[in-house]
Amino acid sequence: MFHYGRHGGGMTRDADILIVGGGFAGLSCFRSVDRRRRSVTLLSDRNHFLFTPLLPLAATGVVEVRSIVEPLWSFQKSRGEIVIGRVADIDAVKREVLIESDPQQPQKISYRVLVLAIGAVTSAYGIPGVEQHCFFFKEMKHARALRERILAQFERAMDLSGAVRKRALCFAVVGGGSTGVELACEIHDLIEEDLKKEFPNLAKEADVQVIEGRNAILTEFGQTLAHYAARKLRQKRIHVQTGTPAREVRERQVVLDNGQSVEAETIIWTAGIGPSPFLTQLAGHWGVELEKGRIPVNGRLAVDKYPEVYAIGDCASFKDPGGHVLPPTAQVAMKEGIFLGKQLSHGGHADFSFRSMGMLASLGTGSAIADLGFLQFKGRLAWWFWKAAYLTRLVSLRNKATVAFDWLKIRLFGRNTARIDF
Ligand SMILES: Cc1cc2nc3c(=O)[nH]c(=O)nc-3n(C[C@H](O)[C@H](O)[C@H](O)COP(=O)(O)OP(=O)(O)OC[C@H]3O[C@@H](n4cnc5c(N)ncnc54)[C@H](O)[C@@H]3O)c2cc1C
Repeated sequence: MFHYGRHGGGMTRDADILIVGGGFAGLSCFRSVDRRRRSVTLLSDRNHFLFTPLLPLAATGVVEVRSIVEPLWSFQKSRGEIVIGRVADIDAVKREVLIESDPQQPQKISYRVLVLAIGAVTSAYGIPGVEQHCFFFKEMKHARALRERILAQFERAMDLSGAVRKRALCFAVVGGGSTGVELACEIHDLIEEDLKKEFPNLAKEADVQVIEGRNAILTEFGQTLAHYAARKLRQKRIHVQTGTPAREVRERQVVLDNGQSVEAETIIWTAGIGPSPFLTQLAGHWGVELEKGRIPVNGRLAVDKYPEVYAIGDCASFKDPGGHVLPPTAQVAMKEGIFLGKQLSHGGHADFSFRSMGMLASLGTGSAIADLGFLQFKGRLAWWFWKAAYLTRLVSLRNKATVAFDWLKIRLFGRNTARIDF
């Protein structure tokens, strides 16, 4: 329950549990709080939850963007539980959160317990040119912009020839982890399954490339599955370069560490994540040192210096008993959120523990890899498993149904290649 008051011209509200961030971690925590015991407020700078695992499909028209977002309002159980606003600062001593707003009317929320679930941002690792010349791939707006760009490049290339045409039809994905590989495969399938009908000559000339700094792609999977994936990409004629970190990105060119370069008008950066400037600033104010860009938490997921402050998801660094930091994945974020929501509801002080449910990566239509720990499999069976797993993980029944319809629709009619955003 909120309590409102005016202090010094601004607006202050009181919250019992205040969760900042409406992603996998924050939303899971919010939904797990027992409202009969505690009241909870979710503060987020965007009014929706985004199901990122299907973002590559949204960027290539397999599913509609709206099918993978959920309005946060639909999770509100009583009025005032959701607040839309960007946090500008947090005073952990006064237990107050300052929301970016009109400077004449500053808005504050004071809390008893704070849960920080602000995620991470795409990191350019200081590589020159990345911010200026690359498409990032983390938000809904990125998927929309990329979809428009891919379609526009085919229209643009019609009037071009030679090296300029080749460059217009080259799509370079930097980063050979799950996101980069899934995206490259989806771009390939969009071209092969649909754009080929509309632009047969151009489709033949299109070139999808994956650039990876490490010596292999999909290193988070075991060697057998990673090798299978590499073979699949070769069959699709996706050009994979490994052991070649990007040194610089220029307009229409990725310069590699080995001195070679890739000429592409569309360069997509999926090479990693880092702390948001807000988290870096906050850690400075709090006198807490970030561990690889994430805020260290103890077994209860609390920040040692401020026991009433918790951090979960991509912004938090939790070490398992073996000293390994849990990876920044939706699975970890959700489990941390659910655990913390329950603990806070019942005043528990148990330590969090994590058991992986496995890893999946799609390699485009009809193929995927699956590592469930006790079982590894690949190919069409893994692809159906991947589809079923993500369909069931979508939060609302509405989105489960719309994604299923989207899949059916493209099997029957193909992807819609109209450009509508720009
Ligand atoms: C393309 C893509 C594909 C992925 N695929 C998979 C996959 O298949 N499987 C998997 O396990 N993981 C996957 N991931 C990783 C997964 O998305 C993240 O690990 C997960 O989103 C982390 O959840 P989170 O809640 O910590 O952060 P997010 O989901 O990023 O949520 C953070 C929230 O905080 C809000 N916020 C940030 N700053 C502020 C502020 N100052 N004030 C208010 N609100 C703020 C943001 O708007 C956002 O709502 C993928 C990621 C991407 C980008």
